[in-house]
Amino acid sequence: MSERPSEPQTIVIIGGVAGGMSAATRLRRINEQATIIVLERGGEVSFANCGLPYHVGGVIPDRESLVLQKPEQLKARFNIDVHVRTEATAINRADKTVSARDLVTGENRDYPYDALVLSPGSTPFRPPIPGVQEAHVLWNLDDMDSLITSAEKAHSAIVVGGGFIGLELAENLVHRGIQTTLVEALPQLMPTLDVEMAWPLVERGRLRGLDIRLQVAVTEIRSTGVTLADGTSLDSDFVVVAVGARPNTELAVASGLKMGEAGGVWVDDQQRTSDPHIWAVGDVAEKVRPGGHSLVPLAGLANRHGRLAADSIMGRPAAAKIAYGTSIVGFFGVAAASTGYTERVLALQGQAMRVIHTHPVSHAGYYPGASQLAMKLIVDPVTDLILGAQVVGEDGVDKRIDVIATAMSAGLTASDLRDLELSYAPQFASAKDPINMLGYVNENRALGEHSVQWHEVSQKREAGWVLLDVRTSGEYSQGAIPGSELVTLDELREHVQRFRGKRVIVTCRVGQRGHTAASILSQEGIEVANLDGGYLTWNMGMAATEFTQLAPVA
Ligand code: FAD
Repeated sequence: MSERPSEPQTIVIIGGVAGGMSAATRLRRINEQATIIVLERGGEVSFANCGLPYHVGGVIPDRESLVLQKPEQLKARFNIDVHVRTEATAINRADKTVSARDLVTGENRDYPYDALVLSPGSTPFRPPIPGVQEAHVLWNLDDMDSLITSAEKAHSAIVVGGGFIGLELAENLVHRGIQTTLVEALPQLMPTLDVEMAWPLVERGRLRGLDIRLQVAVTEIRSTGVTLADGTSLDSDFVVVAVGARPNTELAVASGLKMGEAGGVWVDDQQRTSDPHIWAVGDVAEKVRPGGHSLVPLAGLANRHGRLAADSIMGRPAAAKIAYGTSIVGFFGVAAASTGYTERVLALQGQAMRVIHTHPVSHAGYYPGASQLAMKLIVDPVTDLILGAQVVGEDGVDKRIDVIATAMSAGLTASDLRDLELSYAPQFASAKDPINMLGYVNENRALGEHSVQWHEVSQKREAGWVLLDVRTSGEYSQGAIPGSELVTLDELREHVQRFRGKRVIVTCRVGQRGHTAASILSQEGIEVANLDGGYLTWNMGMAATEFTQLAPVA
């Protein structure tokens, strides 16, 4: 701390959007005397990059509403010197200056600093595919303008990549009336979800006319289409590539700052780099995650860490918390949210897990407008701590994921969800909120109820387990797991003898009646396991993996 620059001081910030501008305004609120200089190579600072796809689709009609602050406003209100179209080209740590080029005049200039904040963000990744330079990307206002110019005269488009930006863009192109194809090399959309939880997005996209191609790579891009790995040639008026981003670490690497294990700039819990006069925030900086470090390119963390870096610079240290990567995407009316790790990632880490699927309604079923959620909770069976959660549905998704993210951040256990006192009226929730229900299911499982996951059913069947469906005959006739026997829950007690000496998987629609059936059979001394999440989860998983070669958890 002795090396912290004394006040007043000059603070230079590289990058003037999420993290950089949060740092700049916070610095000014703390210190009226400091000289605050923002260098931004783009034409605007403080623009809403998260809103770009929605202007492409016309949902946000006014382009100007995406520009949150102009340099002259920032000067007037915060006395911040903003230099747009000015690119930082080198950090000279020995003499504490930043070299920068005015991209309009070509003039070079050095900016001395007492403290430097790096928030240069990331750059959309262009995979090494022949013709990739023909494709659009969507990262800033210039990209958006160029994309809209193409979209204005287009009838068809191809979006390569099924992550956040690919989904948002594909939806917005469809919204514009453009015939759109989404191509994703993985067997699923949204890698922040597990394969079964991502399936509702595929269903909804297809229902709304989006042509979704999964598990097929693009091998060539042309200005008029793409070629796929299976030899298919798809024509379109333009192509957009949205396959992730790489942190802009060039300046940090060239100046010898320590890099982290995931390829971002290493920072301590104050967002301070290995140089005590330099802080890094946002996409460029690594985040501490449970059990390691990784890049988490999300706006909330960039803003929060920008503020935290400003506090640290001004001698108000506050430690950054663990990042869980809490995120949400909207896609044709379906919201898909997650926090923490997926089952897929945890399985790769060899983590023991208790996995819970539920399908509650978003609010009391008797009140109009309720819709069904798909929820997944992943719990450490030893500590009972929550490792991850996913929620997909039309309504109430954001509330549920945010409660779980808050619980994780506070170190609550999965069983603690049972006792959370959450707001309730019929139009918003149920008296037992879906969050409480997760806590109840977790408690049952922790107390010894056996369960089977959707992807384990066929293996268990081969090992001799009987599959018992306890729904009504009407439900059964509309779709059931092949090979299952029907005995409704209300009749089960009369049929217990049939199952003596057998090992039984019970299933129902969502797992709730299965839980009751399992308790009836287990109290009769029968070895029984409840199909987690019931027929609905099994159906999602099987549909999602029908054409994939990969194991669902691999
Ligand atoms: P940015 O906000 O990207 O700012 C970096 C700035 O630095 C850029 O303007 C760049 O021009 C400038 N710069 C780079 N190098 C230099 C240099 N050498 N000299 C000067 N300036 C430089 N996150 C969410 O959480 N939710 C969302 O819904 C969401 N949607 C998104 C949609 C889109 C289309 C995009 C592109 C991103 C989205 N994100 C979303 C991600 C989020 O915007 C980023 O994580 C966040 O903006 C990162 O903040 P940052 O300060 O690190 O970088």
